Amino acid sequence: MTEQTGVILVTGASRGIGRGVALTAAKAGYAVGVNYHARADAAAEVVAEIEALGGRALALQADVADADAVEAMVDRLGEAFGPMTAIVNNAGDVARRQPLDEMPMADIERLVSVNLMGTIHGMRAATRVFKANGGGGIVNLSSEAARFGGNRISVYAATKAAVSMLTVGAARELAAHNIRVNAVSPGTILTDALAQEGEAVLDTLRQTLPMGRIGAPEEVGEAVLWLLSPAASYISGTVVPIAGGR
Ligand code: NAD
Repeated sequence: MTEQTGVILVTGASRGIGRGVALTAAKAGYAVGVNYHARADAAAEVVAEIEALGGRALALQADVADADAVEAMVDRLGEAFGPMTAIVNNAGDVARRQPLDEMPMADIERLVSVNLMGTIHGMRAATRVFKANGGGGIVNLSSEAARFGGNRISVYAATKAAVSMLTVGAARELAAHNIRVNAVSPGTILTDALAQEGEAVLDTLRQTLPMGRIGAPEEVGEAVLWLLSPAASYISGTVVPIAGGR
């Protein structure tokens, strides 16, 4: 393990892409805040995996839809490891496909409050800390659905399109504060939910993808960590597709 690179918060880090980003960040030398909503056991496993690698990590419970909870979480991370230097706003409600007119309003409101408001809460809390400490890096999770609209996931796609535009606008606003803001836009990445669909569904899906395979959470993690690194020092306001050529 290298010397501490910085202090990073990854929201929704107990599984899926968030877990992949958290592990990649730990390998890059970050002390990692592993945010989770409900699965304390899964978050504790991610912390244990990072510690087994010789890294430092802390499980932090918060619903990203709750602005005060996000502010408090960022402060808890700072008390443990020092001021946060990077945030990855990954937590997201991944929509079940259903017709717009049949979707319960509670599901629609949840998509907006987690995917859009949750990202705004993370960006605001991070900006407060970064402005006070000379700068920092933000990476948001958009989606290729934001470009294609998706089919029967239009609300999800709209929240992700909003995340992409938040990224572009905030990058302009925050450049003078030494804060870079970027997003990644995954295509199809293998997570627990997708794995449960079974081999037949996965095979059909692979045939639609130019590389003939589904992406891994760690491949998203590598792109996120590169965007946060000094190697990407002149890159801000971009939305990087991670979609295997699709
Ligand atoms: P996932 O469902 O496996 O993980 C989502 C994570 O967010 C979970 O850990 C969950 O607990 C957490 N979360 C949900 N609501 C939360 C809340 N209110 N507060 C805190 N945490 C909360 O999904 P994933 O596929 O790993 O998705 C991660 C991100 O990547 C999401 O923003 C998703 O929209 C985006 N994305 C995923 C794919 C894909 O193919 N998997 C494609 C494009 C974009």
